Amino acid sequence: MKNDTSLEPVPTSLADLSLPLEVRVHGRGGQGGVTCAKLIASLYTRMGFHVQTFGDYGSERSGAPIQAFTRVDRQTIANRNKVYRPDHLIVLDEALMGPQVLSGTAPGALLLLNTRSPLDAYGGQYANYRLGVVDATAIAREHGIGSSSVVIINTTILGAYARLLGVSLGALEAAFASLGLGGDLAAAEHAYEQVQIRTCDPADAHAVAPATAWQPDSAPVTPLTEHRADSPATLKTGSWSTQAPRYRNHAAPCNLACPAGNDVRGFVQALQDDGADAAAKVLLRTQPLPSVCGRVCPAPCMQACNRDAFDGAVNIRSLERWVADHSTQALGKQAVARPRRFAVVGGGPAGLSAAYQLVLHGHAVTIFEAGPALGGVLRNGIPAYRLPPEALQRDLQRILDLGVETRFNVRIGHTDLLRMQEEYDALIVCAGLGPALRLEAEGTGLAGLEQGLDFLDRAKLGKVELRGRVVVVGGGNTAIDCARTALRCGASSVKLVYRRGREDMPAIAEEIDSAEFEGVRLVLNRQPVAFSGNGTVSALVLAEVEPGAPDESGRRRPMVTQRTSNLECDTVFLALGQSAGMEWLPGTWQVRDSRAWEGSQALDVWFAGDCATGEGTVTHAIGSGRRIALAVLGRLDNAPETQPDAGSAVAPGQIRFSHFDVVPPHRDKELPPSVRRDSFEECNHGLAGPEEAGRCFSCGQCTHCDTCLIYCPEGVITRSESGYRIDTSYCKGCGMCVAECPRSAMEMHEKTKLEVRQCL
Ligand SMILES: Cc1cc2nc3c(=O)[nH]c(=O)nc-3n(C[C@H](O)[C@H](O)[C@H](O)COP(=O)(O)OP(=O)(O)OC[C@H]3O[C@@H](n4cnc5c(N)ncnc54)[C@H](O)[C@@H]3O)c2cc1C
Ligand code: SF4
Ligand code: SF4
Ligand code: SF4
Repeated sequence: MKNDTSLEPVPTSLADLSLPLEVRVHGRGGQGGVTCAKLIASLYTRMGFHVQTFGDYGSERSGAPIQAFTRVDRQTIANRNKVYRPDHLIVLDEALMGPQVLSGTAPGALLLLNTRSPLDAYGGQYANYRLGVVDATAIAREHGIGSSSVVIINTTILGAYARLLGVSLGALEAAFASLGLGGDLAAAEHAYEQVQIRTCDPADAHAVAPATAWQPDSAPVTPLTEHRADSPATLKTGSWSTQAPRYRNHAAPCNLACPAGNDVRGFVQALQDDGADAAAKVLLRTQPLPSVCGRVCPAPCMQACNRDAFDGAVNIRSLERWVADHSTQALGKQAVARPRRFAVVGGGPAGLSAAYQLVLHGHAVTIFEAGPALGGVLRNGIPAYRLPPEALQRDLQRILDLGVETRFNVRIGHTDLLRMQEEYDALIVCAGLGPALRLEAEGTGLAGLEQGLDFLDRAKLGKVELRGRVVVVGGGNTAIDCARTALRCGASSVKLVYRRGREDMPAIAEEIDSAEFEGVRLVLNRQPVAFSGNGTVSALVLAEVEPGAPDESGRRRPMVTQRTSNLECDTVFLALGQSAGMEWLPGTWQVRDSRAWEGSQALDVWFAGDCATGEGTVTHAIGSGRRIALAVLGRLDNAPETQPDAGSAVAPGQIRFSHFDVVPPHRDKELPPSVRRDSFEECNHGLAGPEEAGRCFSCGQCTHCDTCLIYCPEGVITRSESGYRIDTSYCKGCGMCVAECPRSAMEMHEKTKLEVRQCL
């Protein structure tokens, strides 16, 4: 505990506290007295003290008097009784004042009153107390805490209490943040400034007995002090309960949803705690292309994010980009006794990912690439306004720096494959998809018609100028990129023709939005059946399409009707998808389970990325390349195949939203459409800072927020070198800590035989 640098230093006025310190809060049901006691515990726990806190209420109605207690000590607290002799007394409603409230206090005790009266109004009353008065109700009302009928003052009065203790505003702020009450901090700070304090002369304090300080209107009721206030000899759990809590990490949904296999929760927390380099160290374990995925990934992680059900998903993709753009961190290679030699065919995301993992594991890798450079579709497909070449180059350089060898302009054929089998320990083929699909329709030979992929490749290599009306046929990423690129190349209008509805378009939804935002018009439920023109295309004949019965993809099958119309145009780009394109493999091979087979013999030739899965995103290709590389290593080393059990993800219902403040997501800065059409400048400029990382709940993994420790009514949770320790021999199994953990990082379990014995 002493080594924890996050702990606040104990302020001087607290340094000579007489311990154990006992605090009693008196309030009414609905005022938040119990939370007040917990906040007090939080304040002390941040200064390194052991705490115990609990409320004393049953089925009281709102407005009924309640008490809550906090005990503070330098050592583990064994006393589990209510607080009968408080050193500090906090009264949330002055109307409750009476002998019962003051009972058990010794001369010199601290008394903090929520009252409208100024200090002067008390004259000599409570002379033997160190008295603080504050109008917490007025302050909380001014700051809009609670409803118009019931003002909640628990957080406000804590500000006044902190001032009485001599605690810094910084410590107060940290305590509020740890309990997710940052929204109430301004009111607490207001009370910190407003509280009026009267010190107590110890001589006077001893001269006046507490009971005489209060002048009751009616006869006092029986005081509570008859109860025992000291620690009884044994308070172990006994046979009372069979369950106890334990710390247990659970899977974050974002991690399970990332096809690349990124530890999203881990890198986001590392970014928040220790900055971009620390985050990069986590991210780069699985992700060789963070600059790329931080820009073009459809981000299924964000669709799975638990924060979406609260106030908007964490902007994970842009945090990934932030890390990539603000860190030069790289991982080192492992040393391996006998490095193996691997060949990777294809330098797209899948090949790069496979090569990256193999080289990180200490092996030698050569990438054979048909094109003149690495990147695959990232280089020759995705336009610069979405993925600037410099961003791609940063990622590629990090991979090359590890010592991956490259052979460019080498298109591997089936004889090469047979030869390479002899030269390398294994081959991993990541050749992507094959040639673009053609449209079977009259007039496709007219000038002015071009495959979209060829147009994108040309546009990436140099300036392409277009004039007039452009029509793009297709609904995937290639079609959208063609349409947006055509606008930037000078087209006067761009229409995109697709045979189904908008919701069925396979392109990334945000890209469709961007295309429309920039001025692309969608022509939906239309199928081109012919092209007309005098040597050069001048119109498409479009047939209306009606949705038929659902096909195997679940989408309604397009039923082409006889109803047609003409759409005039000057240029047409076809973007209808690509073939699987594996016909160049040796004829005797079959591909099963991402591996080549010759009859019943498995070959050391593997397949990853789009050519193996057809999943069609960069993040899937990266995940596929990594999994295959690790599987190959395992197979060559005869390692048993272990499938890590990810477990089920923490669901939104397992997150305690009430512990968090509503903070809308930080959005990316975008170029306005007026300037987008003039250049290939990147449209999205990313986040202004990394603050978005602070919105992550850290689903399923402990952040050492102390909530369990503070909420445990038995005080059996203490900090330890490795995090926390639960003394299960005293734990009553109420499960409060598990229920209150904001992020589902604890669970109840059946006690072991040893734990049961220790309870007796
Ligand atoms: C225009 C377009 C836009 C896209 N936009 C996005 C997007 O925004 N987000 C997203 O996640 N995904 C997008 N995708 C999909 C994504 O780019 C692919 O899913 C991904 O690139 C697949 O990676 P890969 O490594 O399997 O294949 P590729 O990227 O296709 O790489 C294959 C590589 O292998 C080489 N090769 C092929 N045959 C041989 C051979 N015989 N010998 C040697 N080398 C060979 C090729 O030259 C190529 O470099 C887009 C695709 C296109 C076409
Ligand atoms: S690669 Fe995509 S899915 Fe994975 S963390 Fe990055 S943005 Fe999310
Ligand atoms: S809140 Fe954080 S850990 Fe939870 S799903 Fe979202 S990004 Fe992942
Ligand atoms: S309450 Fe906080 S400290 Fe306790 S397990 Fe949950 S995250 Fe960790």
